[in-house]
Amino acid sequence: MLGVNISTYSGREISLSPEIIDTFKGTIRGTVLTEESPEYDEARKVWNAMIDKRPALIVRCAGAADVMHTVRFAGEHKLLVSVRGGGHNIAGNAVCDGGLMIDLSPMKSVRVEPKVMTVRVEPGATLGDVDRDTQAFGLATPVGINSTTGIAGLTLGGGFGWLSRRFGLSIDNLISADVVTADGNLVKASESENPDLFWGIRGGGGNFGIVTSFEFRLHKVGPEVLAGLIIHPLDAAKDVLRFYRDFVRTTPPEFVCWFVLRLAPPLPFLPVEWHGKAILALAVCYSGDVKEGERVTKPLRSFGMPIADIIGVMPFVTWQTILDPLLTPGMRNYWKSHDLREVSDGLIDTLISHARKIPDPQTEIAFAQLGEGVSKVSKDATAYTHRDATFVMNVHGRWDNPANDTKCITWARELFQGVTPFATGGVYVNFLTQEEQGRVRLAYGSNYDRLVKLKLKYDPDNLFRINQNIPPHG
Ligand SMILES: Cc1cc2nc3c(=O)[nH]c(=O)nc-3n(C[C@H](O)[C@H](O)[C@H](O)COP(=O)(O)OP(=O)(O)OC[C@H]3O[C@@H](n4cnc5c(N)ncnc54)[C@H](O)[C@@H]3O)c2cc1C
Repeated sequence: MLGVNISTYSGREISLSPEIIDTFKGTIRGTVLTEESPEYDEARKVWNAMIDKRPALIVRCAGAADVMHTVRFAGEHKLLVSVRGGGHNIAGNAVCDGGLMIDLSPMKSVRVEPKVMTVRVEPGATLGDVDRDTQAFGLATPVGINSTTGIAGLTLGGGFGWLSRRFGLSIDNLISADVVTADGNLVKASESENPDLFWGIRGGGGNFGIVTSFEFRLHKVGPEVLAGLIIHPLDAAKDVLRFYRDFVRTTPPEFVCWFVLRLAPPLPFLPVEWHGKAILALAVCYSGDVKEGERVTKPLRSFGMPIADIIGVMPFVTWQTILDPLLTPGMRNYWKSHDLREVSDGLIDTLISHARKIPDPQTEIAFAQLGEGVSKVSKDATAYTHRDATFVMNVHGRWDNPANDTKCITWARELFQGVTPFATGGVYVNFLTQEEQGRVRLAYGSNYDRLVKLKLKYDPDNLFRINQNIPPHG
């Protein structure tokens, strides 16, 4: 291999000789890519097409030892480092310009222990990998709603989905993790081993090290659930959302309903005359007994005059992929997010008025519903602190033509500003974009200072800085 010019974390460019590169390569079981490698362009691609960065080196790790060797190599040369799990992060933090990208995506193993209801997952696994393997045993742990998202980044920021109201966040089900710290050593983090690190990785993102294995607790789920969509015209959204907010309070934790305002996609179950028109979609999942689910969901399904109701019994693993076609990689994306406690009349009016001006058929305003499973954990039990947020709004600005960048980004920012008076001020770290480093403190609230101290202990040189960064000196 030739020598490589590469960036350090202090912003200098250094030249690594062919001998240095070859010696490093000799320590790696996976593959080391440079700009000349045929796989380079595919390896640096991430979900959000607005991110187009070119690392000098990409190390595709085959196991924890590769991660240890690479972290030591990066530390020795003070290299700029990024870490890739599933590559879904909206801010594009998996990839860096000019530095070294540690690519974990080849590490995909998922090993279920059905008797003790746990699963061990490597950091390159996607949510789909985890769901498919755990559901083979009728088991599941709470993860997100799009099967191509990486388990690693999702878990390290918190992680929520259809099971979170019942079973908490992904991190609330984390039993232990293997972590390669900035000195290149592998340590275990759990309630009994390095508990401070275990606290920090449960919400603190990739700030404290690279997780090479996650161990999660599993729950009996499905394998069939009652789930699907109810679609209303946007004109009915005010009445439906007012009903919704009162209704969800009466439901048990097995019931979760997220809602989305957008233009109707050309899906076969929607009458053609509705394609491209503004709608409110209610996405429902009842993860308990299906018959009981029919009873619990009935009032919501009977309300108003929906355009479509496609709620039915389906395998949980199918439901976990149902929104994938609306969230494919390769589009331009710009997100804005708020935490909220309630769906007030003022909020509903604001959402509807902005939904009437949605700039692109792929753009949407999505509201995730959390609840008891998340809020029963105390605010300082994990780095993730906003346990009182009942809803998380995510404005998914999404389009494909770069000429629409300004229009779509401006719309998302205006909506974000409009919703600010109704929001808690907190934010989910996994929904922050590149430009929102200033909101990282808000993501951690009163836990921030403790995280800074932890960063100073585990990564004093801030080797792991391409993330929603917690600098070691605050
Ligand atoms: C379409 C879509 C749907 C989503 N839905 C949900 C949802 O339902 N619920 C939810 O909670 N979130 C959701 N998210 C947000 C998601 O949790 C974040 O984007 C998360 O960062 C994705 O993780 P990743 O491994 O794919 O990302 P990456 O881009 O690979 O990594 C994200 C960050 O984590 C760091 N990182 C990755 N792996 C490791 C590791 N092993 N050790 C240390 N640091 C690491 C990276 O350096 C980077 O800073 C969604 C995102 C998208 C794009």
